[in-house]
Amino acid sequence: GKGPYDPQNIFARILRGEIPCKTVFENEWVLAFYDIAPKAPVHVLIIPRNPYVSFMDFSTAPAEEIAGVMQAAGEIARTLGLEENGYRIITNAGTDSGQEVPHFHLHLLGGKALPAFPL
Ligand code: 5GP
Repeated sequence: GKGPYDPQNIFARILRGEIPCKTVFENEWVLAFYDIAPKAPVHVLIIPRNPYVSFMDFSTAPAEEIAGVMQAAGEIARTLGLEENGYRIITNAGTDSGQEVPHFHLHLLGGKALPAFPL
């Protein structure tokens, strides 16, 4: 979560089109795609197009951008039909969370009754 943004991280490469992904949704603020190792029947990653290492710095982004990302997450969940049975959104930030990819992302999880928090 700390330190400079690494432009060679895997999500930066996905954003540049250097690595393929299964796109679910995209707009001016975000790219959303299926997680390569899904932890639930529906597991989508929602990432801002701009370079934030984690929620630690995304949380200081312009309010318009924060709104854009959160509204996209809601729209994706709705479009995937998750509103009927519900879903979970989580983000890992920094070492103690086990964050692996140093580009801020929301995990959208659903499609089954999820384990009691924390997943
Ligand atoms: P974190 O631990 O950073 O919160 O989550 C990173 C997520 O990215 C993991 O769930 C992992 O499966 C996923 N992931 C890692 N590399 C790739 C990749 O190349 N493509 C996709 N679609 N997902 C990835």
